[in-house]
Order: sequence, then C-alpha cells, then structure tokens
Amino acid sequence: MPLSRERLAHPPHTSKEEASAAQRRANNREYANAIARRSHAKHREERNPKARAYYHTHKKERTVYRKIYSKEHPEKFRTYAKRRYALKRGASKHENVSLDVIFERDKGICSLCLKRVKRAEASMDHVIPLMQGGDHTYQNCALAHIRCNCSKRASTITQQQRLF
Ligand SMILES: [Zn+2]
Repeated sequence: MPLSRERLAHPPHTSKEEASAAQRRANNREYANAIARRSHAKHREERNPKARAYYHTHKKERTVYRKIYSKEHPEKFRTYAKRRYALKRGASKHENVSLDVIFERDKGICSLCLKRVKRAEASMDHVIPLMQGGDHTYQNCALAHIRCNCSKRASTITQQQRLF
C-alpha cells in the first residue's frame, strides 16, 4: 500500500525515538506539565467549543465507547467514576484511587469492624467523609465492608442532622 502524503510528511517514529521521547518527558515531568497547562489555558476558548460540539453530536458513539471501555477495563472504569463522583462532591484533592490497590494495602481487613473482607463485599471508605471536606486520595481512603460503610454513612448523616 502506497504511503499517503501525510504519512510521508510525518513518517512514523521508530520505537527508539518514541522511547527516548518518553524518557525525556519522564525526566522533565514538571516542565512538560507546565507547558501542557499553558497551552491548554491559551487555546481553551477555541478548543472548548469544538469539544463541546463533539460531545453533543456524538452521543451515540460515546455511549458505545463507554460500554466497550467499561467491559474491557472494569476496575479502571470504576476508579474513574469514583473520582468524578468525588470531584462533584467538591473534594479539593483527588486522584485515581483503585479499590484493588486499597484491598492489597489494607490486607483485606475492614477498617471499621476490623474483620476480614471478601473481595465481593469490599468497598472504599473515606476516613474523613467527602461531605466533611475529605479528600479522594489513597491517604484518606480505607477498605471497608459495604455494610459497615453504609451504616457509617447513615450515622454520619444523623450526626449532621443533630447539629442543625
Ligand atoms: Zn466491616
């Protein structure tokens, strides 16, 4: 197959070139991030309408893509969904917190009742609840049974109601 004009103008990088570029970026991560942030701020106005238009005109594609992605990467999908949820709840610090990692780190022990947790009944507890300004970070997340987490949430809500 003959190469297209674009392909000839921008020949694909060799894996060696790609590796060295990745290394460079890794070595200068702060710098690369600063450049990306600056570029993002500068082109925000022109980029956002395009992104927004795409968002609204490709609803079907987004749904299909999301379905495929969530099937292929269920754990990642849940992790991102939790972070989005925390963002909406106003968590000022947030990162992708994986329940698998928390499970490993806490050695399968519930932080609320200190008993063993089966993987199927595992959930992520925010030590300082998001509602009380807690962060969505590994530091503020602990392993808990789903049922322990629910009863903690219920008692936190009653406590808050008592305050008013
Ligand atoms: Zn428990």
